Amino acid sequence: MLKPNVHYTELKDSYLFYNIAQKTKAYLDAHPGTHLYRMGIGDVSQPLCKAAIDALHKAVDDQAAAATFHGYMPECGAPFLRETIAAHYAKRGVTLDPDEVFVSSGASDELGDILDLFDRDSTVLIPEPAYPAYVDANVIAGHNIVHLPTGKANGFLPQPDQNTQADVIYLCSPNNPTGAVLSKAQLQAWVDFANDTGAVILFDAAYEAFIEDDALPHSIFALPGARTCAIEICSLSKTAGFTGTRLGYTVIPRTLERCGQNLNAMWVRNRTTKTNGISYILQRGGAAIFTEDGQAQIQAQIAVYKNNAKLLTDALDELGIWYTGGKNAPYIWLQCPHGCSSWDFFDLLLHEAQIVGTPGAGFGESGEGYFRFSCFGSPADTAEAARRLKRLCKNPPAAAE
Ligand code: PLP
Repeated sequence: MLKPNVHYTELKDSYLFYNIAQKTKAYLDAHPGTHLYRMGIGDVSQPLCKAAIDALHKAVDDQAAAATFHGYMPECGAPFLRETIAAHYAKRGVTLDPDEVFVSSGASDELGDILDLFDRDSTVLIPEPAYPAYVDANVIAGHNIVHLPTGKANGFLPQPDQNTQADVIYLCSPNNPTGAVLSKAQLQAWVDFANDTGAVILFDAAYEAFIEDDALPHSIFALPGARTCAIEICSLSKTAGFTGTRLGYTVIPRTLERCGQNLNAMWVRNRTTKTNGISYILQRGGAAIFTEDGQAQIQAQIAVYKNNAKLLTDALDELGIWYTGGKNAPYIWLQCPHGCSSWDFFDLLLHEAQIVGTPGAGFGESGEGYFRFSCFGSPADTAEAARRLKRLCKNPPAAAE
C-alpha cells in the first residue's frame, strides 16, 4: 500500500488570508458598493517597466525566426543572464562567478526546492514572525523546526546567542512581514555563528531593492565569511513587478561545502534533474532589469511604493504609534494601539475606516498585538487610508479605547 508523505498531516491550516477574505466579503455584503483601502496584499500594483516590456517583445520575435529561436534553455540559467547578474553584484563590490548564480522561477519555488540539499533530520531555525512559506515547506520536508521569537525589544531583528542551535537558518532582510532590516554587524553575527557551528544560512533577499541606507547590506555576500556559509535567494517580483511574470535567482558559492559535499555542485545536479530551465523570453525580460535604463525605471517604481510608505509612517509618527519598516522596506509593522489584539485592530480598521491590512498574529505567535501594512497599493488609496487611520486613532470608538 502506498504511504503518502505523513508530514502533510502536520501542516496547520493557514486561516490568515482566508479569514481576511471572509471578513472583507461579509463587510462588503453588508455595505454594498463601499470602496475598501487595501493595504493588506503583498502584491505589486504597477505594470512592468518599459525596458522589460521591450525586451520581452523582442524575445517573442526571436522565437519566430529559426536563426534566433531558442529551444530548451540551460537548466541553471542562460549564460547571458547569469553573467548580467554577476556583473550587477560586482557593481556593489561583491565578486561572484556566473556559475554561482542560478536563474529560478521565483523565490517561493526556491525556498521550498532548496531543502533538497539538506538531510531530513536537519534542525531549521525560523525567526518569528515569519513569511508563512518557510514553516510549511519545512513541515512538508519533515524537518525539525525551531522558532526564534523576535519582538519590540530587539526591533524584530533576530540575533544568535549561546542557546541557538540549528543546521539551517532562515534570515529575511528586509523582512516580510516586519520591514526590519539587519545591519551589517547583526548579519555578521549570523555569518560568524554559521561558520562556527557548520550551519547554513538561507538569506531571503526578496526585498533588497528597497534598501536606501548605504550602510545596510543588500547581499549577505557583502560580508566576510558568507561564502562559506550562505545561500542567497532573490526575486524580481517586488524589485521589478515580476510577481505574475515569474523570475528570480539564487546564489550558491562554489566555496560552500559541508561534510565533504559541495552545495553548488549538488544544486547543479538538482536543477539538471528536476528542471528544464526557465523560458528564454522571461530571461531576456529579466536581463533588461539590470541595464542602466531598467535600473532607473524600477527605481522610479520603487519610489512610488516608498512614497506610499512615507504617507503611512508620517501618520503613525503623528499618532505616536510604534512601528518598524517603511524606510528600507515596502512593509510597515506597527504595534496595535490601545493594546488591541491583531484581529480586533483588523476589525476596527475595516468597520470604522474601510482599511484592510494584515493581522500580525497570522505570521506567528510573536506577531500578536502587531499589524502589517503593505505599501504596494495605489498612491491615492494610500493617502486616503493614512487620513482615515489618523481620524480613527485620534477619535476611536469608545469600545476600542
Ligand atoms: N520571500 C518573501 C519574504 C516574500 O515576501 C515573497 C513574496 O511575497 C517571496 C519570497 C516570494 O517571492 P516570489 O514571487 O519570487 O515567489
